[in-house]
Amino acid sequence: MFGPKTHCVVVVGAQWGDEGKGKLVDVMAERADYVVRYQGGANAGHTVCIGDAQFILQQIPSGILHDNCTCIVGNGVVLDPEQFFSELDGLGKKAIATGGRILVSERAHLVLPYHKQLDRAHEKSQKIGTTGRGIGPTYEDKYGRRGIRVGDLRYLESTKALVAERVARANQLLELMGASERASVEEHHALLDRLAPRLVPLSTDTGYLVHHALKQGKRVLLEGAQGALLDVDHGTYPFVTSSNTTAGGAAVGAGIGPTAIDEVLGVVKAYTTRVGNGPLPTQAADGVEEELRKLGGEFGAVTGRPRRCGWFDAMVVRYSVRVNGLTGLAVTKLDVLDTFGEIPVGTGYQLDGAPCTVMPSDVRALEQVVPQYEVLPGWRKPTTGARRLADLPPEARAYLDRLEDLSGAPIRYVSVGTRRDQIIEV
Ligand code: GDP
Repeated sequence: MFGPKTHCVVVVGAQWGDEGKGKLVDVMAERADYVVRYQGGANAGHTVCIGDAQFILQQIPSGILHDNCTCIVGNGVVLDPEQFFSELDGLGKKAIATGGRILVSERAHLVLPYHKQLDRAHEKSQKIGTTGRGIGPTYEDKYGRRGIRVGDLRYLESTKALVAERVARANQLLELMGASERASVEEHHALLDRLAPRLVPLSTDTGYLVHHALKQGKRVLLEGAQGALLDVDHGTYPFVTSSNTTAGGAAVGAGIGPTAIDEVLGVVKAYTTRVGNGPLPTQAADGVEEELRKLGGEFGAVTGRPRRCGWFDAMVVRYSVRVNGLTGLAVTKLDVLDTFGEIPVGTGYQLDGAPCTVMPSDVRALEQVVPQYEVLPGWRKPTTGARRLADLPPEARAYLDRLEDLSGAPIRYVSVGTRRDQIIEV
């Protein structure tokens, strides 16, 4: 997607996350100078396979696996410092050189142990299906203006006093929620003492850095986490994540202006999955759902939770094209459908007997919509060896053509397996 006039590309999930963004970013990072994560935290597990080695990256941008790339954790991310360093050390053990190639925004907020305790206590009562990693409470503190930022670690003593206040507040909330655990000031102070000397040297004004890189003609990839339908504004609220996963969030969370972005690539599976609670209109019937889950290996990269599976939902992807301003689509996991004789595609919804012209904003409506399907013939041949569109069986090409027509954005990539080389650039 990078070209003479395309220097800044956003990669977003265009469904409910887990679309295979990690693989796409890894493939595209070969031609990028910088890869920037702009929102989310350690709840998003991106899986990248290189040869037989599998890397699960949660906090570190997927570009780290290319030594040409500088990786940036942007201001919009909430950083779990312990997870971050354990990932960094893990990469070191697999002989991936990371020295000098990873920087963290001094404006990014820190996920501290009390955030995780609050998250677990909340989840017991609210059941959103969060991963319990403290992301939601950290964003709550950010918007409540009581967050602790990476840059605060430069002023360790005054930050410790602030953290003691936050811990006391967290303990009051835990008590209110009837939770038995309590956060400890001493443990938090010990954590800050340990982390500051490692994190401060990596922290900088990353927005300034990206801005100047773009001015010098460098190529920048902005890597989203989760998917559009989990966006706190545009997703299936309240079954959403706590940040703006859509492309608008990329500018804010990377610290650049929206006019700096040239292209927005939406990653979609050739079918649909969702992890956690909330509506999933095209969820497949029991036996078929299990088959899709098994064939697609649809279990959470971080939690191992089974994902709910269903057919491609063009209503969702059309909506995603609109709210993200997608200029292209990457369709992943086409190979997962290789054995099906017939493949239903959700073309739209009916609500109370009338077609929905726009995506309903309310989950109560979304629970009631009746998806409309078109059934396309399957191809019943392996696609994993295809490297050009012409290598695909005619039915698979017709399937992709139909997805493109229904979605309203051109397909730029088709992924047919987990490996780097299993990709078709259209
Ligand atoms: P992400 O969070 O969007 O990066 O997605 P995940 O990493 O949670 O899930 C994507 C999973 O699908 C990973 O295990 C990938 O290795 C795998 N994957 C990506 N593209 C393809 C593909 O085209 N075919 C198959 N079979 N697996 C793929």
